[in-house]
Amino acid sequence: MKIAMIGTGYVGLVSGVCFSDFGHDVVCVDKNEEKIAKLQSGEVPIYEPGLDELMARNVEAGRLSFTCDMAAAMEGAEAVFIAVGTPTRRGDGHADLTYVKAAATEIAGLIKSYTVVVTKSTVPVGTNRMVKQTISDANPNADFDVASNPEFLREGAAIDDFMRPDRIVVGVQNDRAAEVMADIYRPLYLRDFPILTTDLESAEMIKYAANAFLATKITFINEIAALCERTGADVKMVSKGMGLDGRIGNKFLHAGPGYGGSCFPKDTQALARIGQEHGLPMQITETVIKVNDEVRRRMVTKVSELLDGKLAGKTVAVLGVTFKPNTDDMREAPSLTVIPALIGAGAKVRAVDPQAHREAQDLLPGVQWLDDPYKAAQNADALVLLTEWNEFRALDLKRLARRMTTPTMADLRNIYSARDARRAGFSRYVSVGRADEF
Ligand code: NAD
Repeated sequence: MKIAMIGTGYVGLVSGVCFSDFGHDVVCVDKNEEKIAKLQSGEVPIYEPGLDELMARNVEAGRLSFTCDMAAAMEGAEAVFIAVGTPTRRGDGHADLTYVKAAATEIAGLIKSYTVVVTKSTVPVGTNRMVKQTISDANPNADFDVASNPEFLREGAAIDDFMRPDRIVVGVQNDRAAEVMADIYRPLYLRDFPILTTDLESAEMIKYAANAFLATKITFINEIAALCERTGADVKMVSKGMGLDGRIGNKFLHAGPGYGGSCFPKDTQALARIGQEHGLPMQITETVIKVNDEVRRRMVTKVSELLDGKLAGKTVAVLGVTFKPNTDDMREAPSLTVIPALIGAGAKVRAVDPQAHREAQDLLPGVQWLDDPYKAAQNADALVLLTEWNEFRALDLKRLARRMTTPTMADLRNIYSARDARRAGFSRYVSVGRADEF
């Protein structure tokens, strides 16, 4: 099958590459000429483990190509996927559908034979109908259907998530579109991954409900963590004890500096907005958004307390700035709250991140970038572990402590323990939700 993929971001590129690996002919389109030039020369513009190899293999096999020319990409395509960004609209929290609308308008004039227009971007309920209307208005003779196919991949594990999904959700209005979608995903469901076919609205809602639920789970354990600190309980044990209950499950129960990334913050805000628009405030989701903001601010207080509230003139070494490991995505990363607050209070911040240095430097002005945690610790007054990259999971704590002016650590991912830190010579250690700090 021939597929056009509009948007070559984290979702569009991974989806396009994986579809080509299924054996489909895929042309990926983007407005960003620099991105397309990189892709055409074999360079992957994002950091996603395994993507470069899979992309090269499929380009080599002649099944995958990149262009800025939408007309060329859509030539003969039976399905065209919209995988453009849907960021938070300034001011009101609504998902900004400008890019989706622009793509739909452009597609309309290029439909020559029956085509399924599939929205992969995360979009509010009703958007697929809007896409359908936009195309019909622009080209009343177009022979097409729309389909909603929300994506659930996680950055950092995107290929595995795409190739081994828990489920594939497809919202359609008729059997004809459902059959095209089934053909696209056949390699997966033949391997027993379930395809859930729904109406358009349910498919759109599933994505927001799933993300808001996961954000709630993270925020719940973060709130419990704060209470653990006051009561003497250890959140690691509490989440283990909770997670062993099959009804709860152990995933997304790790206390930390609050959720971030390109999806949870914007999708919780968009769901809250959808609720308000329908006269039904999403009270749980609205509270989750508020509590997550508080969690982030609490992390700044933790670092500040480590230095007795005197940040001015102090040097703080931050390990990890991305919202999670194995990605270079900086969108809504907790570091974007924590680091400016430290700098604002007069601290000098040095940072180390295995991948995000390039992405992060414009977003975090005033930070000194280093490539090694031990260099960052040299003469520092505090060490802050903000993202749990593998590189930071087995640090030589003694070596770090020896280099620091005052060996203090805020372990905001609970990687180490008070015992480890004490033995290594740290004079102070704080973490999240554990009472054995010193
Ligand atoms: P992104 O910002 O990384 O990429 C979007 C791309 O679309 C950009 O390269 C942009 O240049 C391109 N684009 C915009 N308008 C275009 C047009 N008219 N024609 C061609 N290209 C155009 O976004 P992303 O992170 O890949 O997310 C895309 C969608 O998928 C969003 O709705 C997001 O919520 C959803 N999603 C993201 C993730 C994730 O982990 N990033 C996971 C699941 C779902």
